[in-house]
This record gives sequence, structure tokens and C-alpha cells, in this order.
Amino acid sequence: MIGCDFQYRDKIPVAILGATGSVGQKFVQLLSHHPWFQIRALAASEKSAGLPYGEAAKWQMPEPLSPEIANMIVRKCEPAFPCSIVFSGLDASVAGEIETAFAKEGCLVISNCRNHRMDADVPLLIPEVNSEHLGILKHQTFPSGKIITNPNCTVTGLAIALKPLDDHFGLESVSVVTLQAISGAGFHGRKNMNIDDNIIPFIKGEEEKIESEIKKILGSFDGRTIQFRSFNISAQCNRVPVSDGHFQCVSVKLSKSVSEDEIIKVWKEFRGEVQRLKLPTAPEYPIQYFNEETFPQPKIHRDLDKGMAVSVGRLRKCPLFDYKFVLLVHNTIRGAAGCAILNAELMTKSGMVYW
Ligand code: NAP
Repeated sequence: MIGCDFQYRDKIPVAILGATGSVGQKFVQLLSHHPWFQIRALAASEKSAGLPYGEAAKWQMPEPLSPEIANMIVRKCEPAFPCSIVFSGLDASVAGEIETAFAKEGCLVISNCRNHRMDADVPLLIPEVNSEHLGILKHQTFPSGKIITNPNCTVTGLAIALKPLDDHFGLESVSVVTLQAISGAGFHGRKNMNIDDNIIPFIKGEEEKIESEIKKILGSFDGRTIQFRSFNISAQCNRVPVSDGHFQCVSVKLSKSVSEDEIIKVWKEFRGEVQRLKLPTAPEYPIQYFNEETFPQPKIHRDLDKGMAVSVGRLRKCPLFDYKFVLLVHNTIRGAAGCAILNAELMTKSGMVYW
């Protein structure tokens, strides 16, 4: 990374890898008007490279593309960009090597992809939950670049809801059944999906990712390594015909006996450093609890607080565990591009980004 202090004078040049995809387009939408970051390069596969972005991307976002972005020529994913931060929404089949190549060239790579998430020296970051894990970056061995990742879209919502429960009452066991939106499959994944009037009870690799990533995220950092949090967890994942927003039915067993009011209180009071710093993409309240028994719902609540709030409701006693509840997370915002941008904002504000 090239050095200079963050003084909010000039916008920080950023690039998006996988810019034509479902997550990539969300990055373009969220970064188009960002107060600190400016899109300077867009990249995708060889099929898209060389085309104007407006032609290569089948634009699906509600806001129109600006002419400036629409006319930007899509590049190959080769690390010679004039950018300090590289956001990645690449297909996992290619993300690992490409992200490493950009980090070797001195870029701060902030990735949504699974490839580096479980690497011992890579933070799997949700800023409100485990910002102290950024300390592991000093053990990365790139000459000046770094790789940080954000979790699987489902895990992000689950980890935010579980973090205050674990801190205050101790997690012993978690069972989660997910109802996941179509956009989670990406533009390519949804092409042959028989999802109308249907539920598909399998999402490749998803249950394993939930069961492993959550333990790293809730783990403790001792200055050298991230010690995984140990508890029982079982996940069952389903694809449902909803456009955006992953819904989850969660049951938890806790180490302490607590009341419903105590649980709701810790959810409502939950805040992180990014709220104290009032970062541009930070939601005011990371967790919104609803008392209405039919809430939250994807159609109504997925965009709450810029799509960055996790909506929780229906807390009640569980005959098998202690409590059960439901939650909703916007998969391409809080679960992907929005979380990655918030990570970049935290690192920028903390003096970890140079340009
Ligand atoms: P997607 O819609 O299929 O987009 C994939 C992107 O990767 C496209 O821009 C595509 O470019 C590019 N790509 C494919 N093959 C490539 C190659 N050989 N070289 C360079 N670029 C290539 O997928 P997505 O849903 O956005 O997901 C992107 C990543 O984010 C995945 O790793 C996924 O697991 C992760 N993620 C997704 C979500 C979600 O809710 N969708 C949430 C969290 C994390 P072309 O258009 O040129 O083919």
C-alpha cells in the first residue's frame, strides 16, 4: 500500500472485481455516491473485459447507472489498477488466486468470497462483532498488501444476532434453518434454478460454511491467533422464491437462565465501534427487534437502515433449547457489499488504508 494520511480531501480510488455480478452490481450501486471512495476500475471475466460496463453488466439495480460508470471499460482481473482498495465479488472458482495476486501487488483486498475466509492470518470481519481480529493482519506476509474477508451472507446476520447473546449469556448450542433468497445464488447460479412455486432444500457448501465460519467470527484474538469459539451448531439451508433477504429460524441454548426481556435488551443495546464512529455505511442500530408477531418480513424489512440492520423478532421459549427467534438479513448488502464497504470504512478511519 502506498502511504499518506487519511484527511478526507481526495476520495480513495477503489476497484471492484466481479463487478458485473450480483454482489458486484451492489458494490457499484453503493459506491457510486460514497463520500470517501471513488470507483476507478471495474473488472470481470474475459467475456466482459473490453466492453463498456453498461454493456457487460445486465444492470439489475433500481437506480440508473451514471454515464461515467456505464462508459467505464471493464478490465481483466489483472493487478495493475490505480487503486488502494480492491473489493472482490468474484466467482469462488477464480477468486482465491486473483485476490492473492492483487494483495501481492500492494492492494488492500476486501473480499466477499469464501476462498481466504478460513486462512489463519485473514480476518473474517463483521465490524460490530470482531473488529479486534484486524490485529491478525500484522501476521500476513505480503510486502504491503493485505486480504480481509467478510463472511457468508447468512452467517453475517446470524453472527450479529448471536454476538450479544454469547457475550452476556454464553452460547452452548445453536440450531438454524434458513430460507434464502434467489439473489444469493448470483446471476449465474439462478439461471437454471427451478424456483417458481418451489423450495430447494440444498445450497451447496452453505451448511458447512455456517457451521465453521461462525466459530471463527465469535472467536477471541490473543494477539497471535484467532481462537475459535467452541459451541454446538447445526444448520439446514433452503432456497426460497424471495428476491432479496435471507430469513433464518434460530433456536439457542444458553449457559445462563435469562428472561425474554433481558435478551431483547441486549439486542437493542448492541453497538460496535462503527456506530460510535458514525461511519457512513454503519446502521444506527445493528439489530432491530420487532414485537409484532408477523415481523420481520423480507419484502418490508430487508432495506431497513440502508439494508445494514439485522431484523429480529418472535423471541419465545423453545421446548428443545432455551429460546427461539427469527431473523432477516439483506444478503447482498449487510451480507456482502455493504459489510465489505463498512470494513473498508473502519480500516480507513483507523489509519490502515494508504493511498
Ligand atoms: P455472480 O452474480 O455469478 O457474479 C460472479 C462474478 O464473477 C461476475 O462478475 C463474473 O464476471 C465474475 N467471474 C466469473 N468467472 C470469472 C473469471 N474466470 N475471471 C474473472 N471474473 C470472473 O455471483 P455473486 O452472487 O455476485 O457472488 C460473487 C461472490 O460473492 C461469490 O464468491 C459468492 O459466493 C459471494 N457472495 C455472494 C452473496 C450473494 O448474496 N449473492 C453474498 C455473499 C457472498 P462475468 O459477468 O464477466 O462472467
